[in-house]
Amino acid sequence: MIVLMILHPQAASITWLVVMKHKLNLNGPGSRLLGTAMLMIGFSILIHGLAWLLERFSLRVAWLKSLALIWTVAGAILLLVLAVLLVIEALQDRAMDMSYRKQRSHPMPIGNGYYECQYCGNRMVHKGDRICSVCDRELD
Ligand SMILES: [Zn+2]
Repeated sequence: MIVLMILHPQAASITWLVVMKHKLNLNGPGSRLLGTAMLMIGFSILIHGLAWLLERFSLRVAWLKSLALIWTVAGAILLLVLAVLLVIEALQDRAMDMSYRKQRSHPMPIGNGYYECQYCGNRMVHKGDRICSVCDRELD
């Protein structure tokens, strides 16, 4: 899909809209994911600090270091997942924007024989109008 988007963006945008039934939107979940990953990494730094402190008192802290490593790896994996999702969302938004721009010159039917101009929102466009009477843009 990503390769198709790079090689043939228009075909990819249509394919993308068919494949994606739900739009990926990271506005809310993205910040929560980032916060969780930062907490995990912060927690692992805290555990590392604790292990370092306990080592000063000649205590065995190998298990604590392992725990810190697990938290670091988990946080890093979460950050990686977030990065991949952000790339997917950016590609999806680009495909949707291209699809919208491609459709802009086609007036949208709104009932009662009227159409809406996709450039300016003029709702008094008639079937067969070649130019919008408000914004003077060409219509298909
Ligand atoms: Zn218009």
